[in-house]
Amino acid sequence: DETPGGTDIRQLDDDTVARIAAGEVVERPASAVKELVENSLDADAESVDVAVEAGGTELVRVADDGRGMSEADLRAAVRQHTTSKIESLEDLESGVATLGFRGEALHTIGSVSRTTIRSRPRADSRDSGTGSGGEADVGTELVYEGGEVVSVEPTGCPEGTVVEVEDLFYNTPARRKFLKTTATEFAHVNRVVTRYALANPDVAVSLSHDGREVFATTGQGDLQAAVLAVYGREVASSMIPVDVDEQLPPGPLESVTGVVSHPETNRSSREYLATYVNGRAVTADAIREGIMGAYGTQLGGDRYPFAVLFHEVPGDAVDVNVHPRKREVRFDDDDAVRRQVDAAVESALLEHGLLRSRAPRG
Ligand code: ADP
Ligand code: MG
Repeated sequence: DETPGGTDIRQLDDDTVARIAAGEVVERPASAVKELVENSLDADAESVDVAVEAGGTELVRVADDGRGMSEADLRAAVRQHTTSKIESLEDLESGVATLGFRGEALHTIGSVSRTTIRSRPRADSRDSGTGSGGEADVGTELVYEGGEVVSVEPTGCPEGTVVEVEDLFYNTPARRKFLKTTATEFAHVNRVVTRYALANPDVAVSLSHDGREVFATTGQGDLQAAVLAVYGREVASSMIPVDVDEQLPPGPLESVTGVVSHPETNRSSREYLATYVNGRAVTADAIREGIMGAYGTQLGGDRYPFAVLFHEVPGDAVDVNVHPRKREVRFDDDDAVRRQVDAAVESALLEHGLLRSRAPRG
């Protein structure tokens, strides 16, 4: 009713606020996979195994052999805005080395799913010595459902961390309805895991879907080895190295390194352009246009090469504090970035005799 002084504006309860916020961080199973894989990499894992069922809608499991968490760590980790990675905004401004820093992923994922975390601290991160099978040999299992800690119990488990996310969005039906087919959701998951596998050839990364292995890198190799494991022999054998720093035209990029494919190895999707800025998987129009410019007319219309390209820029030329869902970055000077990427990729293609000569552009 409209009594004077009355208002229709009300305070949302905490649960509603949490679920709305969750929808902004975790959009689909692939977003949970991204957050969990980043946590594993931040924990210095040497292996990260991702298994999903039904495109990740029924189960996402990420297992690592990283630093692990004690019981106290685990209890803290699922609370909102808890992180071991930064202490203040100043840390963020001086540049963060870790992939995560917001301290919201575990809390958020757990508020829209049934999440089980089993973790045991790595031996080298504990006091060693007793060897008598004490507390240190036991891990902790924490069950977290719809934002509530359901149970915390000791459990036998290997060193490292396993996070299982079941029934994502079970308590947010509108969000659940928005999910696409299993095939589409799995394609998003595959793309995310592929990007981290390619950027971390020294970590053994595996992906399986409904019990079938999709790929597994060895963790012992270089970028070429990771490309072979992920994309197969035909693609891997057509890749040529890009490695340019001092010769770049003027612009914000300090170096462009990685591999790009022979023009004849191409696809009708941009999905195989894996591009990174300061180690983070991102997309940027300027980078994509630079790559495409280098190939010029060598590619038919709507065809894209394979590329795994790493771009280094000074910390202050790009903002990492973008929304977690956004992978799109922009540079102050997009034109210069486009010219730099074009030049780097072109020089690699020319060096391998893979470009017909073309008129110099102005
Ligand atoms: P953030 O990554 O931004 O710090 P998260 O909610 O993703 O926030 O994780 C909270 C904290 O839990 C991390 O800072 C880290 O200390 C701990 N943590 C999460 N996942 C792992 C893992 N796989 N191994 C070890 N510690 C982890
Ligand atoms: Mg995180």
